[in-house]
Parts: sequence; structure tokens; C-alpha cells
Amino acid sequence: MKRIGIFGGSFSPPHKGHFRAISAFLASEEPDEMLVIPAHTPPHKMLKGDASPADRMEMCRIAFSELPVTISDMELLRGGTSYTVLTLRELKREDKCLILLCGTDMFLTLDTWYSAREIFSLAEIVYMRREEDADAVRDALAATAARYRRDYGATVREILCDPLEISSTDIRRMLAENEPTDRYLDARVREYIDRCNLYRT
Ligand code: ATP
Repeated sequence: MKRIGIFGGSFSPPHKGHFRAISAFLASEEPDEMLVIPAHTPPHKMLKGDASPADRMEMCRIAFSELPVTISDMELLRGGTSYTVLTLRELKREDKCLILLCGTDMFLTLDTWYSAREIFSLAEIVYMRREEDADAVRDALAATAARYRRDYGATVREILCDPLEISSTDIRRMLAENEPTDRYLDARVREYIDRCNLYRT
């Protein structure tokens, strides 16, 4: 079986927390291939700011250029609402094992996603916490993992990591307020944002 890692999101913009999540996943799961898939239109959130799908794609290329990953345009090409189940169906083959990487927020709500049961049948789920304080989320994550196994027969496991606590929402605010972003944003991504004048309002 070929093991394919999948990391989806809005990536508006991609940040060092994402980079760390992918790195931890690559180190612990050692997939044969890793796909980073920017969503065209995420089902669960309004995309704020003015980065186009093409901008988000390009920023992912820049942000993750040092990692052995493929930035996939499959959701951008499909257009419309980017339901994860559609992406998994498109990728699934008999000889492929799909492994979906989720941060805390995504993992805790996964069973509310469109066709959640099918998602659990198409992919193994690997989750990692994005909060620095492990105690704050440990119980919720463990209880949710147990529920997914029991109610959906899901294959679920955690990767232990040393997360960087940051979100794209925080970064968009920092950019709008012209604050330094070096700790959270790749300098080349910041350069792209400044050059294209993104997230200024
Ligand atoms: P926003 O603030 O715009 O909602 P976000 O920072 O949550 O964005 P997304 O692109 O929505 O980023 O996230 C894609 C995936 O990355 C999700 O599975 C999310 O849980 C995970 N993720 C986001 N930030 C981190 C982080 N700092 N550490 C680990 N995982 C993260």
C-alpha cells in the first residue's frame, strides 16, 4: 500500500504552525507522498481578507518549499465548496492508504463535516494539538478519538509534537496592524504578501 498524507486548509496565509505540523507528520508517519491541498472555498469558514486561491497556492509553494510535499491544486480546480470527502474520493485507490492530518479544531469537529462517516471509511486520521498547553486539550482530544473509534470504526492516532501556537486569523490581524510577523511567518511569504499588498484591511 502506498501511504498518502493529506493536509488541507485555507492557508490564508500559510504559517510556521502549519510548517511544524507537516514536519511532525512527515517525521512520525513517513508517508510515501504528502499532499498539501489549499481549499477553494472552505465549508466551515468565511475566508476573510483578499488573498485569491492563486495567492494562497503560491504562498503554500513558498512556505513549504523546503519540505518534501506536493502542493496540490485539485480543490482549486474543482472549484465550489471544498468538501474533504470529495477530495478523498478522488484520491482513493485500492492500493492507496489515505492519512488525513488535522489540528485540534479540525479534529474535534470532524464528525460534523459533510459525509463524516465516509471520511472515516476513506482515510486514517492523524491529529496533533495546536495549543502549547497540552493540559488544556488533552482530555477533549482523547475523548473525541475514543468516540470516533467507537461510533465510526475510525482509525485515529495522535502525533506528539511541540506546536507553535498561532493561527492565520492572528497573522491577518498582525499584518493589518503592521506588526512584525517573523516569529510566525516565513520571511519569503511576508515578502509575497507585501508585494501583492494582501491583508491590509
Ligand atoms: P484561520 O485562523 O484562518 O481559521 P488556521 O490558522 O486555523 O486558519 P487553516 O488553514 O484553517 O489555518 O488550517 C489548516 C490545518 O492546519 C487545520 O487542520 C488546522 O487545525 C491546522 N493548524 C492550523 N494552525 C496550526 C498550528 N499552529 N499548529 C498545528 N496545526 C495547525
